[in-house]
Amino acid sequence: MLLQIKDLKKHYTYKKGILGSQKGLIKSLDGVTLSIEQGETFSVVGESGSGKTTLSKTILKLIEPTDGTIIFDGEDITHADEKKMRQLRTNMQIVFQDPYGSLDPKWTIQRSLEEPLRTHMKSLSQQEMKQRVEHVLSVVGLNPEHAKRFPHELSGGQRQRVVIARALISEPRFIVLDEPVSALDVSIQAQILNLLKQLQKQLSLTYLFVSHDLSVVRYISDRVGVMYLGKMIEIAKTEELFQDPKHPYTKALLSAIPEINANNRKERIVLSGEIPSPRNPPAGCPFHTRCPLRKPECSKVVPEWTSISENHQVACHLFNQQKGE
Ligand code: SF4
Repeated sequence: MLLQIKDLKKHYTYKKGILGSQKGLIKSLDGVTLSIEQGETFSVVGESGSGKTTLSKTILKLIEPTDGTIIFDGEDITHADEKKMRQLRTNMQIVFQDPYGSLDPKWTIQRSLEEPLRTHMKSLSQQEMKQRVEHVLSVVGLNPEHAKRFPHELSGGQRQRVVIARALISEPRFIVLDEPVSALDVSIQAQILNLLKQLQKQLSLTYLFVSHDLSVVRYISDRVGVMYLGKMIEIAKTEELFQDPKHPYTKALLSAIPEINANNRKERIVLSGEIPSPRNPPAGCPFHTRCPLRKPECSKVVPEWTSISENHQVACHLFNQQKGE
């Protein structure tokens, strides 16, 4: 197991009331537990506001967790200080959605790629850095000539290749990919997804893939976790989740995927209302305000995890009851 997180929480306090004298609590991440195997792609899906980006940033400690445990490669890093995290960041990298925003427009690609080496591998000579930059550019399908260019001189796909190259240059084992293709044209998306798959095989990488695009998630993932209002509500192997989702929210999400083959089309489940504000989350099951199958206990009792099979767990009272029957 490369990564284990247990009961991870990120809560923020905010001032409320007319005079701002009272305090409220926003539970952006509310007790998430999961583990990721070496070489696996684990995807996290959910609507905007579900907590998926907070989860990925908290795992990398770009945001400090409020509670819970993060174990990376057998080491508890929950309370690792900045110095320790600087060492760990050679092994834990992140690729963001917007390749243009991720690169300094005033820097050449050479300088952008050298920057992590200057931070994490200070002992490298200038010549060694240059060789590393050339090598990593070739790994992502670019050539040495691209190193002399500025971000605006590259296409969107080339820029995202540079961002991936920058994540790879310190030879990490674990990469968070936060919506890495959603800013790209569909034809370029396929190229970048194939590149990510190929690099994973070649370099034994482990990915945490964050996305709202379920078709992309189905293509790239080994397992998928579904988040709602700061909680994980279902985890399964990719095909098991897509073919036989259990949680009513997962069913609604998957029913919205366009299906070309008429025989495979499922009836669209339209949820009423918006995802509630994390400033005022519902008691009991976080989904009960929109769930078409809710029962009286759903608004009072938080559902526990139930195992459907070895690789499929769901947090829903419908399955707790079945287990007890
Ligand atoms: Fe719906 Fe109740 Fe299951 Fe929540 S616990 S998803 S409200 S049936």
